[in-house]
Amino acid sequence: MNQPRPKRGDVDNPLAVLIVEDSESDAQLVLRLLRKAGYALVFERVETAEQMFAALEKRTWDIVISDYNLPQFSGPAALDLLKEKQIDLPFIVVSGVIGEESAVALMKAGAHDYLLKDNLARLVPAVRRELEQAIIRRERKQAGEALRESEEKYRMLVEQASDAIFIANSNGRFLDVNAAGCKLLDYTREEIRQLNVQDVAKFPTKTPLQLKELIEGKTLIIEGEVFRKDGRLVCVEISARKLPDGSFLGIVRDVTERKRAEEKLRQLSSAVEHSPSAIVITDMNGNIEYVNPKFTELTGYTIDEVRGKTPANMYGSNRSQPEAGKGHWQTIQSGEEWRGEMLNRRKNGETYWEAVSISPITDPNGIVTHFVAVSEDITLRKEDEEKIKRLNTGLEQMAMTDYLTSLYNRRYFMQRGTEEFKRSWRNNQPLALLMLDIDHFKKVNDNHGHDAGDMALQQIAAALKSNMRETDILGRMGGEEFAVLLPNTLSNEAALLAERLRQSVEHLSFEVPSASLSVTISIGVVMISGEMSGIDDVLKNADAAMYKAKRYGGNRVMQYEDVSDADQSSIASKVE
Ligand code: GH3
Ligand code: MG
Ligand code: MG
Repeated sequence: MNQPRPKRGDVDNPLAVLIVEDSESDAQLVLRLLRKAGYALVFERVETAEQMFAALEKRTWDIVISDYNLPQFSGPAALDLLKEKQIDLPFIVVSGVIGEESAVALMKAGAHDYLLKDNLARLVPAVRRELEQAIIRRERKQAGEALRESEEKYRMLVEQASDAIFIANSNGRFLDVNAAGCKLLDYTREEIRQLNVQDVAKFPTKTPLQLKELIEGKTLIIEGEVFRKDGRLVCVEISARKLPDGSFLGIVRDVTERKRAEEKLRQLSSAVEHSPSAIVITDMNGNIEYVNPKFTELTGYTIDEVRGKTPANMYGSNRSQPEAGKGHWQTIQSGEEWRGEMLNRRKNGETYWEAVSISPITDPNGIVTHFVAVSEDITLRKEDEEKIKRLNTGLEQMAMTDYLTSLYNRRYFMQRGTEEFKRSWRNNQPLALLMLDIDHFKKVNDNHGHDAGDMALQQIAAALKSNMRETDILGRMGGEEFAVLLPNTLSNEAALLAERLRQSVEHLSFEVPSASLSVTISIGVVMISGEMSGIDDVLKNADAAMYKAKRYGGNRVMQYEDVSDADQSSIASKVE
């Protein structure tokens, strides 16, 4: 065997020969020649259409070697059967006799070669050639299929693309468009094929130069606008390129949304840049990524000084409120907004108060990616608030204090009296009240003048106050009348205190510009009891006791218990 080993036909891969032949010996002759040529064979001899059909069903064959005339079958019929079954196999006719016409007809019908039985010298070369041809045919067919598949794939890709794709000839006439292109312009494919690029596109003015580049084969990327069928203009980005066949490909993307988003972003950036509030944007770990100019103005720090640092480390003054710091962090981590006030420190060391609102920034899936803090310097407001607080405290003090003596005034005394009255009932504790009136005070005024009278009142008030316990409540009820509330005080204790007060005033010698004077006081003492319905009753009764003390000559202490009904009616008539 000096010939190259056949590709098919070795022991492992025997050549499958289907022989259409009624003569066993003729068949054997053919097989012998093939074996002699080095082919290992599997074969089957069939002599009817049914047998051939069955053989074709049974397995795949490499070649058919067919007689021309058989008692029940024929070469042309065998060829027809192959065609019918769409099987492309080398088909070689081996015949005893075959006329010229029949041979031509056979070849036309698809046979690959024909040989005469008495001259089989060409058989092996013919088989070899046809096997090779079959391989080439098969490969070509496969390549064709692959090409069709790939074309189909690309067609689908173009059709499915979300970008509009147009093909136009060198005159600008549209040749083809994909579905996205139809949708973009709102035309049907047929309508677009009637249009020119110029009919729908509006390019920026410098186009001619770029058009030249496009023709030279460069990819052109430009922004422009296209008219839809309804006349509406759509902003687009076009990437155009010349194709090998001289036509032009344009990939067009609707950028209306992007433009709108860019514009919105530009406006927002500008708002942030010019915001009167300080704005800080951090990543989700709290590291600063952006600060606006107002922040720099407020803190003294530029973006380069704070980028990558956390607000707490940078300008926080949270030593005073470490807990506040933790709280807001937890709130914003959980995706909620936090509002509050913070004490921070400027670059120059000054502390300042800011009102801050910190919000998480989320991506379209709701995942927190950043935080934005918007803050305002409220140091001045805080200071004002402090001032107001102080003023208010002063005003409150004023509202409850008597201007001349600095004791509680009547209004405040009555308010406290009402509270103490209720409290003593609630807690079942004793409550005593003393009513004090200076004896013959009119004379002081008359003899020494009203200013001297005022000075006397101030010194007497101070003397009374110095005898009070912490819990006692001393008020000037008006004119030269004073009253004392003695919470949780028993009758004898109250009487003792009253006596002490009386004596301290009696022994007080006070200075007025022209003289050194002394006065006495009369005191009425009352313990609250069941028959009194409120502080007014208590005061009225203390008054009654005090009047009785006056009637007995003044400079004395009188208990309300010692006031008789007769005393009461005489007081009533005096008051009238
Ligand atoms: P008595 O109580 O013992 O009956 O005699 P009295 O002179 O104190 O009598 P009355 O209570 O009627 O008069 C009180 C006087 O106290 C009248 C007024 O001249 C004087 N007075 C009241 N309030 C003030 C005050 O704010 N300043 C001065 N300088 N005098 C006052
Ligand atoms: Mg008096
Ligand atoms: Mg009086």
